Amino acid sequence: MKTKIVEGYWICPKCNTRCRGADQDCDNCGAVRTADVKFHLDKNAPAISDEKDLALAKAGPDWICTFCGNTSPAGEENCTGCGSLRSDGNWRPSDKKPDNLPETADSREEREKEAKIETTATLAAKKPATPARPLTRNEKLGCGAFLFVMLVLFIINCFEKPGRIEIKQTFWERTIEREQLQATRDSDWKNRVPKNAVVIATSSEIRRYEKVSDGFEEVEEEDFELAQVDTKEHEETVDLGNGRFEVKTWSEPVYEKVSKGTKLVTREKFRKEPVYDEKVVYDILDWDYIDKVVASGSNSPPQWPDIKGARHDPPQKGDIKEYRRKEQYWIEAVMEGKNEVFDFDELNFKPLTAEQFNQLQPGTKWDAVFSGLGLLLRIIRPDGKPL
Ligand SMILES: [Zn+2]
Ligand SMILES: [Zn+2]
Repeated sequence: MKTKIVEGYWICPKCNTRCRGADQDCDNCGAVRTADVKFHLDKNAPAISDEKDLALAKAGPDWICTFCGNTSPAGEENCTGCGSLRSDGNWRPSDKKPDNLPETADSREEREKEAKIETTATLAAKKPATPARPLTRNEKLGCGAFLFVMLVLFIINCFEKPGRIEIKQTFWERTIEREQLQATRDSDWKNRVPKNAVVIATSSEIRRYEKVSDGFEEVEEEDFELAQVDTKEHEETVDLGNGRFEVKTWSEPVYEKVSKGTKLVTREKFRKEPVYDEKVVYDILDWDYIDKVVASGSNSPPQWPDIKGARHDPPQKGDIKEYRRKEQYWIEAVMEGKNEVFDFDELNFKPLTAEQFNQLQPGTKWDAVFSGLGLLLRIIRPDGKPL
């Protein structure tokens, strides 16, 4: 790579004169080269060889005085126009700034801005999540009223009332859910058939093909070589911000595959050979839910329904078995001295059991305890114990 530094030029915005890049004001009319004046590069400009000029070019971009707008070279600590301090000025824009440039107003501002962004980011990370919306006054009142009603009902319900009941009618319903051993048909290669499968049929089928060597053959093949066909020139220019440019140039060889004719090559030949395996058709037996059978009655002893199905050992396809049982009992009764009929299927919030149900025969009379809200809590046996 070759690097050279050349002087650019600028066009005076007042009189259109082409001025030398390093000049800070126009030769013709004396106008100052202001911050918005652009530098241009002349392709044929000679490289700067003078040591002093080179040092000035590499010193950094010019700076603009914020008081008089005059431009001064990087090395000047005071404005060449009014003598103000460089630390109050701004650097001209440039593609490359030396690392050890002294601070100006704009570079200081940039540094402070970066520090501020960092602090803001840290603060944002620490900020806690937004708190939940507080309840409105009406919502609070509503909640309070609801809780109060619940509390009153709870207290009323705590007072127990004795009574005497007569059983009028009884009802029961018993259910059995049924499962049947059913077969699902499938097929797969022998090594992938599940262990509990019942084999229905097998057959020999092609499972895959194998690449088998089938001798050698001579073939003609085009022969290539890499050859340099061109050279690509690259150029990169860097605006130094002081009327000079750094110009980097380098060349890159371009290669291409070029045919050299043909050559004879010995190649191995292959053919595809089928590999056979055993394919199996099988059944998998599984218990599946099918339906439920129900028995029900009134004023009679409860019975379980017949599940109506064969059962073999070991089980066979079509066998039926019980999956789950459910039972439900409810009773109609009257309070002694009243005609009003009420029914219940729970005692103290638990479903009636078959044992309780069998004792509560129609026509029998029982002492009972009700809650403050009229729920049946207990039925008392003649020996004084709860049923
Ligand atoms: Zn001019
Ligand atoms: Zn000045």
